[in-house]
Amino acid sequence: MSLTNLQIADLLARSAAEAESYRQRAYIKASRGALAWTEEAADVLESGRSLTELFGVGDKLARRIEGWMTEPPEVGDPPESRSGFSSRSVSSSIVDGHPDWRGAINADLQMHSTYSDGDVTLEGMAAASRELGYSYIALTDHSQGLKIAGGMSPEELRAQGRAIADLNDEMQDDGFRVLHALEMNISPSGEGDMEPEDLEGLDLVLGSFHSSLRTTDDQTYRYLAALRNPNFHVLGHPRGRMYATRAGLHANWRRVFAEAAKMGKAVEIDCNPNRQDLNAALASLAVDAGCYISIGTDAHSIRELSFIDMGIATALAAGAPRDRILNYMTADELVAWVRDRPQRSGQVG
Ligand SMILES: [Zn+2]
Repeated sequence: MSLTNLQIADLLARSAAEAESYRQRAYIKASRGALAWTEEAADVLESGRSLTELFGVGDKLARRIEGWMTEPPEVGDPPESRSGFSSRSVSSSIVDGHPDWRGAINADLQMHSTYSDGDVTLEGMAAASRELGYSYIALTDHSQGLKIAGGMSPEELRAQGRAIADLNDEMQDDGFRVLHALEMNISPSGEGDMEPEDLEGLDLVLGSFHSSLRTTDDQTYRYLAALRNPNFHVLGHPRGRMYATRAGLHANWRRVFAEAAKMGKAVEIDCNPNRQDLNAALASLAVDAGCYISIGTDAHSIRELSFIDMGIATALAAGAPRDRILNYMTADELVAWVRDRPQRSGQVG
């Protein structure tokens, strides 16, 4: 008898619910960490190694998990906030079986730098991405409305544009390019927090909800309003869920994805293990509706750039053809897709 990383994550989240308040955060952090482990804990033990080799696992946590492995506790189904997730170790083994999918991917289309809430400079994220083999990335720092994430004002966005242009001049000979993009905050009524003229010159705009994410009421209206907003191209982490914290928004997904396809918008597979948003079940509905898919790690550090496998595995599970995934386009093809897309959907944008 042994447990998967997903089951361990669930047990850690259950421990949080039973722990003293000051320990709850540590357990939630550990449960999220378990989703991001690169190897199955069972395999680590099987090969005679210590669980402390896994990211974020100390001696005490290792003993607790080993106890569970020896004698798995009886638990019921996870609550909605922990349902419909996979783990990174499983995703990586799926992608290992499709080396052409990892080899052919050209870009990571969501990441953050010190221009908003990332840990690393624009130059650092670009260099690390180039080392991973990409030919381009979309740098998607937050816009002004998301104060908690240090969102950029229009002036800061323009300054970032100049820094990216300089960097692209330097990296040109390496065949690498940074697309100037933005993760624009979208209100529940579907409006962006930047004026359309502030967005001129951007290569790509993601639109994401970051507020009123805990409501359990149907939010189809919110998605339809946002998708009809012509000022962004990709709906970022569509549900806004977070492992063990919130289940994400509810909507009539067939209607939402039909509207996205009609408006020529892509929907994102956010690769962060705690988000997995869209997951395979919803991504499959989006593919069936004819949507384009955009894969982004949502990395806020260099380590998180490696989350890309979660998105590739989700796209594979959803049956997404590569010619409908923006990341498999070249930078020029993606820029052309953004440019031509409004005509394709019959919108002026
Ligand atoms: Zn976001």
